[in-house]
Amino acid sequence: MDSVENVVAGAGVVGLAVARALARAGREVVILEAEDRIGTGVSSRNSEVVHAGIYYPKDSLKARLCVEGNGALYAYCEAKAVAHRRCGKLIVATEGSEVDALKGLQRRAADNGVTLTWLESREALFLEPELRCEAALLSPTTGIVDSHGLMQALLRDAEGEGALLVLKSPVLGGRPVPGGLELEVGGAEPTRIHCHRFFNAAALGAPALARRIEGLGPASVPPLHRSKGNYFSLQGPAPFSRLIYPVPSSDWLGIHLTLDLAGQARFGPDEQWVDQEDYEVDPHRAAAFYPAVRRYWPGLPEGALKPAYAGLRPKLSGPGEAARDFLVQGPEEHGVPGLLNFFGIDSPGLTACLALATHGIKNVKTT
Ligand SMILES: Cc1cc2nc3c(=O)[nH]c(=O)nc-3n(C[C@H](O)[C@H](O)[C@H](O)COP(=O)(O)OP(=O)(O)OC[C@H]3O[C@@H](n4cnc5c(N)ncnc54)[C@H](O)[C@@H]3O)c2cc1C
Repeated sequence: MDSVENVVAGAGVVGLAVARALARAGREVVILEAEDRIGTGVSSRNSEVVHAGIYYPKDSLKARLCVEGNGALYAYCEAKAVAHRRCGKLIVATEGSEVDALKGLQRRAADNGVTLTWLESREALFLEPELRCEAALLSPTTGIVDSHGLMQALLRDAEGEGALLVLKSPVLGGRPVPGGLELEVGGAEPTRIHCHRFFNAAALGAPALARRIEGLGPASVPPLHRSKGNYFSLQGPAPFSRLIYPVPSSDWLGIHLTLDLAGQARFGPDEQWVDQEDYEVDPHRAAAFYPAVRRYWPGLPEGALKPAYAGLRPKLSGPGEAARDFLVQGPEEHGVPGLLNFFGIDSPGLTACLALATHGIKNVKTT
């Protein structure tokens, strides 16, 4: 049986960031990916926004790792020439009744160490003349990033330091053995691998994989809730140069406008709870987008929204339940030496990927 020091399951932003960090530290690492390419999961179906760290409760992992990850990600993109743009974002109160909530967001951001600038309506309209709002917050550290370029750069770095990527190799399960874990790997040539440390970064597949690891109590494995986010793209030129977000009413940020690096505008993601993996965008869902978008952009022409794509958020909380933090679970939490599970890595997981990697590695020591 082959033996390696570290195995990472999943070649999305999180698994690749973990592999890169391990390889850079001189550690032997193999990345096992179920699909035939990297980045076909959550990491390629999102808004590609570099979040500032505004919404999350003080001292939560989401708050800490988003703020740390934001700075680390910009520095990484600059160093590795990964396409990105610090375009900034406006969060807008479209009714007088939302102004207090906007003030609350500014306080929450400040608690997380993030400075937002308060804009009266005319100041916001000076920046974005097509906007309609009562007041707005400007976030200068929000931006956009090419998520595929990021994953390619992480893989290049990891491989450059000796990491090995093996595609079409799903990790099926495992068991604790002396000195680490023994993993069962599927694919065309099923095999077993011994490793000292195993990082479960399988996102939507993480709870199912964890349930097949012997010794991990059922109480340690949270249920998976899939929240689908549908996007519609705007036909025609983008009306704004910054990202535009409404005041959120829950853990969901509301139907917002994001831009891609070519300047094309899209709206979404909405929130649709689903039982299965399903990436079709139902064109009828546009009916809910028009009134939501016109609250901050009255000029949205009828018929201008076209179905674009959808992503699935791997969430720990279901419909109507309170939002939950990232769950980065090491041996101290679950008792299996050498095992690290990343659960519930929904937004801002792309922004936080480098910080999540550092945090995860610290939480699992070699036995
Ligand atoms: C609609 C939506 C919008 C979002 N917007 C943003 C945003 O704007 N900004 C932001 O910061 N974050 C955003 N996020 C969150 C962000 O996209 C995720 O947190 C991040 O991409 C998660 O990366 P990952 O590596 O954990 O998951 P993935 O990219 O899904 O990677 C997991 C990998 O594991 C593989 N895998 C599964 N099972 C196995 C197995 N058993 N063995 C081996 N491999 C396996 C999968 O094939 C996949 O490649 C958004 C998410 C969604 C859904």
